Amino acid sequence: MSNTTGHANGHAATDGNVVEDVIIIGSGPAGFTAGLYAARANLSPLLITGNDYGGQVSITYDIENYPGFPESLSGPDLVEKFKAQAEKFGTRVEFDYVSEIAVDRHPFVVRTSGGAEYRTRSIIISTGARPRYLEIPGEKEFTGKGVSYCATCDGFFFRGKDVLVVGGGDSAAEEALFLTRYASRVRILHRRDKLRASKILQDRVFANDKIEMVWNTVPIEIVGEGGAVTGVKTRDTVTGEEDLLKTDGVFVFIGHLPNNDLFPGKLEMDEDGHLITDRHMRTNVPGIFAAGEIQDKVFKQVATSVGQGCAAAMSTTRFLEDLHAGHAVDWSADPREFAAPRAAVAAL
Ligand code: NAP
Repeated sequence: MSNTTGHANGHAATDGNVVEDVIIIGSGPAGFTAGLYAARANLSPLLITGNDYGGQVSITYDIENYPGFPESLSGPDLVEKFKAQAEKFGTRVEFDYVSEIAVDRHPFVVRTSGGAEYRTRSIIISTGARPRYLEIPGEKEFTGKGVSYCATCDGFFFRGKDVLVVGGGDSAAEEALFLTRYASRVRILHRRDKLRASKILQDRVFANDKIEMVWNTVPIEIVGEGGAVTGVKTRDTVTGEEDLLKTDGVFVFIGHLPNNDLFPGKLEMDEDGHLITDRHMRTNVPGIFAAGEIQDKVFKQVATSVGQGCAAAMSTTRFLEDLHAGHAVDWSADPREFAAPRAAVAAL
């Protein structure tokens, strides 16, 4: 990358327009924590929320494992607390969606679907992840008509009904437990004979009379009548046998995909589409940092996203201090700590 603006230190604006110090993209736990720390470093951060305000935590009914809240609290309540704390110290929150970033010039450019265009010296990306789809016949057709990706949002509509949950991780277990508040029966379809979910959630699932496990089974088609789900065609992953399970609703929790539409060709990603950062949360472009599930495919907890948001803001603060002190930035070099040795090995 070249410093196309031609400034000695790469941070001055070419004209009288405002240049932000830092723009944070995304309003989940990582984004708001980055806002809190950047605001307390007097950077007056601008946080652009994205379309899913609060991220995945905002559709979580009950959060039991975020430290500091032993009595647990709801996802939306936690999001409001994150926002209030970030705003208290000066984070500016804009309800808009970033549609494009330009990282081949400095200041970087951030454009939104609301028509705004910003220039900024640094960016913290915390765009998070979205649910993975089954991609089977009937799924799209019946989404919102019996197929759901959010038990907190839609569970209420299944009072006294039969539902299927697909998946074997923490989300499937947690959401199945939540659905027992409303549904008369909850069957969990899992492709193996062992859950991936944490032990505490597994114990609760197995102890719940309303939940039945359907092991070694995957859905292959969702069927319905009159615009409503009536059943799911399944295949046994061991015998290959097919079956039809009658049900009123299908809740899908088979993992997540990173929200990375803005980055192809601009920032380095791994084979699953996560941004590749070092432990300072740096991406391959100087001045661009990432935190939360857009770069974390291992932990994906509210607590870890919060920690990564904090680290990204601290690294951003250091980057800006250097920039404002007039230290030259090598825009052509990958700033990540593993970049240099890796290049050296490749050159051998
Ligand atoms: P996950 O841990 O990746 O689990 C996805 C599940 O879906 C796995 O059991 C997987 O089966 C199954 N699966 C994947 N693709 C499938 C397909 N095409 N068809 C059928 N089944 C499929 O995802 P998650 O449950 O959403 O959790 C994501 C992260 O958030 C995890 O790190 C989790 O610990 C965290 N989380 C934590 C909590 C909590 O702490 N309370 C709550 C929710 C989520 P296999 O097991 O065979 O791979």
